[in-house]
This record gives sequence, C-alpha cells and structure tokens, in this order.
Amino acid sequence: MGVFYKWGAGRDPDHPEIVDAHDSTLVTAGGEEILDAAAGAAVVNLGHSPPGVADAMAEQAERVGYVSTSHFTTPSAESVGETLAAMTPGSLNEAFFVDSGSEAVESAIKLARDYHVARGEPTREAVIGRWASYHGSTLGALSASGNTGRRTTYEPSLRGWPKIAPAYPYRWDHEGPPEEQAVAAAGELERLVRRVGPETVSAFIAEPVGGSSVPATRPHPAYYREIRRICSEYGLLFIADEVMVGFGRTGDAFACGGLGVTPDLMALGKGLSAGYAPISATMVADHVVETLEANDHAFQHGHTYSGNPISTAVADRVLDRYTEDLFAAARRRGRRLEETLEPLVESPIVGEIRRVGLQVGVEFVADRETKTPFDPDADIADRIYDAALEDGVYTYPGGGSVDGRAGDHLMLAPPLTVDDADVTTMGETVVSAVNRVAGEEG
Ligand code: PLP
Repeated sequence: MGVFYKWGAGRDPDHPEIVDAHDSTLVTAGGEEILDAAAGAAVVNLGHSPPGVADAMAEQAERVGYVSTSHFTTPSAESVGETLAAMTPGSLNEAFFVDSGSEAVESAIKLARDYHVARGEPTREAVIGRWASYHGSTLGALSASGNTGRRTTYEPSLRGWPKIAPAYPYRWDHEGPPEEQAVAAAGELERLVRRVGPETVSAFIAEPVGGSSVPATRPHPAYYREIRRICSEYGLLFIADEVMVGFGRTGDAFACGGLGVTPDLMALGKGLSAGYAPISATMVADHVVETLEANDHAFQHGHTYSGNPISTAVADRVLDRYTEDLFAAARRRGRRLEETLEPLVESPIVGEIRRVGLQVGVEFVADRETKTPFDPDADIADRIYDAALEDGVYTYPGGGSVDGRAGDHLMLAPPLTVDDADVTTMGETVVSAVNRVAGEEG
C-alpha cells in the first residue's frame, strides 16, 4: 500500500529515501550523503535547494496560485515567454507552456500537424524520428521515439512512423572524414522521405546533441546543415528536442545554437525550472504562428496546469541564473570531469568516453576492437551504477535496448554549479566502480 514505483508496486528497499538536499548533495533519511552526478536526470542545473527559488514560489502562491491560461495570463508567464524568445535561436519567438518534456514534444507534434492542416496539406501526418531516441513516455512522443525497450509493450498503440539511424559517429559505418560521414548519415532522411512520399510527412524530430538518446553524441555540424536543407526542401518542420540538453548542459545556451541549426519547433523541459516546479514549453517559430493566424486556425490543445503561475514564477527566477558565465563554468567543469575519467581510456570494457559541455557518456563494450555490446543480461551499466552508489555517487545508467546499435552506457551530468572538489570525487568514484565491474568480468 502506498506509492506505485516504476519497477513495481510497494517501496523498493533499494530506493534511498531523500529527506534533504543542497548543492550537489542528497541526504538520506539515515543521514548518508550521496553526490548527485546526474543532477536528477540532467534536471537540477542550479544544484539542489538554490537560494531564491523557495521565495519565488511562496511570493507567487500568496499572490495568485492558479489561473486558467485558456483565458488569463500572468506577469511571470509573459516574462518567461520573452526571456525564452530572446535566448533560443532563430525566430522561435512564442512559448506554449505545458508541464513535462513529453507534453512539450506532444505539443510540437500536434502543432506541426496544425501547421500543415492550416496550409492545406492535411495528408502530412508522420513524424520521422531516429532509432535509439527517447522523446517522452506519452503515446505520441513514444511513437516518435526509437528506444525499443521503452516501446515494446505499447507497440500496438503506437503510430508506425518510420525512423532513421541515430546521429552516433562511434557506430556509423560511413566512410571518409567526419564531415562526409555526417552528410551521408543525414542523407538517410532524404531517401526515406522520398520513399514514403513527402506529402505524408509532417516533421522530423531529433535531440541535436544526444541526451536521453545516446548521451553526449554530437555529430559534425554538417549533419544538421543537411537535415535542415532536407526539411526545408521537402516541407517538413524540424522539431529539436532540447528537453535534456537545453539550458547550458552542452556548454551553449541551447545545443542548436552551438551547432548553428535553426529548428521550427523546440521542446524544452527539465532545465526550464531546473526541477523546482513542473513546467515545460514548446517554442514556435514565427512562420508557424503566422501560418496558423493567417488561416484562422486555433490550436486545440492544452492542460489544466499549463502555464501554472507558481511554475512560471520559478522558471522566471531560474532563467535569471542562466548566464554566459555559468555556461563557461560548466564547460570548464566538464573538461575537469573528463580529465578525472582519463584512466578509463584503457579499460577493457570501455568503448568510448564522450563529452559535450558538462555531460559525459561512457559506453561499455564486451570487445573494444569489434565494438560488440555486452549481452543485456549482463546488466553492466546497472552494476556500475550500483557500485558507484555504494561509494556515494549517483549516476544515470542506460542502454542495452536500442535497435542492436548501442550497448550499455553511463551518463554523468552534474549540476552546472558543481564545484571542482565534487567533480573530482564523482569522476574518481566512477573510475573505481568501472574497474571493479571490469575485474568481475575478468
Ligand atoms: N525528451 C527528452 C530528450 C528527454 O530526455 C525526456 C525525459 O527524460 C523527455 C523528452 C520526456 O520528458 P518528461 O520526462 O519530463 O516527460
């Protein structure tokens, strides 16, 4: 009786009960301290319990705790919208507020459809995604996702939208220098669109830098130049999912900015409130808004808590903290984290260590020469996660389920505000955990 947990009903005795948290540290009911090397799931960008956020919440709750955004707005919602319009690349000038990353993706999928219907192209419906990707757990977002492990049970309820290979240079078999490989990989989208017929395709969705897809994968910028060309040429909208990698995680305000690509729709979540209140947003480009307006087409979508004043007040306070100085510090801390992981370069079970900004992906392989992943039953990533947690460091394990292309990996994505001493402890603990599990594998 009580909470229904993801892995089954009843309290999992392995789920530590967290009663306090500050900076990069979680404190359990038993008084044990755990270093949060994953910032939740790349959420708590400003660390735990940062000053000012609780005040913003309380002040807003005392003033206006709720209004229906079908009929009203609030100063903090307007302020967050303006800040996001200024921060995001290109002409993503309007923010549609929802409550989770999945809902931000759902909204983008539906808005793309609205755009085509408004323009008089109602046959455009499919959203092409990539294998090994994750865009959310609701049925639309999951239909666009290519993570087979998360899809399997729900397959009968999912749209059969086609997929291309992930932007995953470590496992590409294209020939030539990185730029040529990137163009060849992106070319798969063009071939697919031609095959299924552009008149059936609404959008292409991707995480510009891998976060929950394959962590810390960033292709050569030519990849997205080509993706942008193909989307524009064949009339697809490009949806960038920056739910995990937005707000400084990659060392730039947004991954798209760093890659020089401008999407038509952008899904934001996690870092928008840095985890302190549920809020997400879909950013919409001017030409999409203008098309809807010119055709008097209403967006029939929204949720009771969309743009909740307490959430927008928190986001407003958090956005003030996203400065170029913080992003520069995050890049520096990312380099330090990578340096502490250096001993793993020679590990017999490590295939690749990738880093973008303050996000690191360590990929585990059974054979470094052939890049053969471990048998999923070996639970390599979970065992390394357990070993690191035993030593007081929380990391984020994943993989083993993605179209036979990726194996196990560990993601490290500490708060952007983490200090040098904690970064060093996180890295050293992970090195020791990997070495212990590598030893068990013989
Ligand atoms: N998109 C990406 C890239 C994500 O990483 C996630 C969550 O991890 C989602 C969408 C879904 O967000 P939420 O869990 O807030 O629904």
